[in-house]
Amino acid sequence: MPKYKVYVFCDECGIRHLMPVIIALDHGLDQNESTGDIHAGKKLPPEIAKLLNTFVRCPNTGKRYVQEGDDRVFLVPVEW
Ligand SMILES: [Zn+2]
Repeated sequence: MPKYKVYVFCDECGIRHLMPVIIALDHGLDQNESTGDIHAGKKLPPEIAKLLNTFVRCPNTGKRYVQEGDDRVFLVPVEW
């Protein structure tokens, strides 16, 4: 089962931050989407959905912001 790191785009500093979670998807991602950044907006697994609309602290500015919008969540395959 492929595993993915989760990045979210940060409104505070304008870059992506790695979330402290690894998710495994047993469905959904096409083979040609398995490398590089994946736009996860089409169909959100519940592991990702629960990251949305929660407070995230920006490690660069220290500010907290609400992560909202599944178009700002990116999946990157974990390298083995
Ligand atoms: Zn940030």
